[in-house]
Amino acid sequence: TTFAALGLAEWAVKTCRELGMRKPRQVQSHCIPKILDGRHVLGIDETGSGKTAAFALPILHRLAEHPFGVYALVVTPTRELAFQLAEQFRALGSCLHLRIAVVVGGMDMLQQTKNLMSRPHVVIATPGRIKVLLEENPDIPPVFARTKFLVLDEADRVLDVGFQEELKFIFQCLPENRQNLFFSATTTSSLQKLHERYQDKLYVFEA
Ligand code: AMP
Repeated sequence: TTFAALGLAEWAVKTCRELGMRKPRQVQSHCIPKILDGRHVLGIDETGSGKTAAFALPILHRLAEHPFGVYALVVTPTRELAFQLAEQFRALGSCLHLRIAVVVGGMDMLQQTKNLMSRPHVVIATPGRIKVLLEENPDIPPVFARTKFLVLDEADRVLDVGFQEELKFIFQCLPENRQNLFFSATTTSSLQKLHERYQDKLYVFEA
């Protein structure tokens, strides 16, 4: 299949081609149409299989149609992954005027607060730092009031490494009607539980 056949806009198809992505990987051809359809998605495939583009492309496609405020919050377990995700979002969204904020530990909180207050389109965060910012500054939660997408990247790790308290706090700052996207390299019992909780509301792809 082709990226165009998955329902992506022409600019996105062109960007993929320019980045040397000739045809969709398996996780992409399965998940992109479901995400464009508005489904919650759990995608399980090994590291390096192209999971990032599988969620970034449909998010950017929707964002380009109707940009406003913080559109997507991507939660990932480590700083390094956060910066890698930001790089891929920048590359895939290079023809949009995309504002991205990376919110991770060990960086200036005042600057991060300022970045969030400027309402970036995509926020990429580690659980601990975003929770602190949401908790300590009453001006920050409203910034997330209309978030369309929540992504848990490396969801197995985010859900299992003791981030429960952080996640609970973060979730309650997001609107109920958001679309949830979970991507992971392995199946774990907490992902199994997601499946039970969402039942047929969740599309599951497992390579
Ligand atoms: P990820 O698994 O998301 O970390 O992606 C691993 C690498 O595969 C990244 O460097 C991507 O740029 C690259 N990639 C993702 N999708 C494709 C594709 N459809 N064709 C070629 N390369 C891709």
